Amino acid sequence: MAVADGATAPPRPEHDPDDVTWIEPPVCPECGALIRIYPTTCDRWVSLAPMELPAKDVPEAFRWRLMPLPTRSPIPADIVAVRVRGIDPLPSEPVVPAHSMMCVPEWGEP
Ligand SMILES: [Zn+2]
Repeated sequence: MAVADGATAPPRPEHDPDDVTWIEPPVCPECGALIRIYPTTCDRWVSLAPMELPAKDVPEAFRWRLMPLPTRSPIPADIVAVRVRGIDPLPSEPVVPAHSMMCVPEWGEP
């Protein structure tokens, strides 16, 4: 009897392609730095740095801001990344830099 020798664990579940469980924090495949990946309002995805920086330290092309997706619910259902453009943020205003601003692949160093 299998039970007698301790083989009581259920069989391993088949790999489920719909299982999107992701326990590892996302890292950049280029440089290995921690990143946050957010959807944008135009159905693209963007890699952002895990922290905010004052706008004066982030070139305009890399400035992003995280916004709750507007819904009828009082609780924001989701977060989207929105490019900061049009109005200039104050120099001290925090923005989220795109990871590409600080992406330095290890093999990219001379
Ligand atoms: Zn990178």
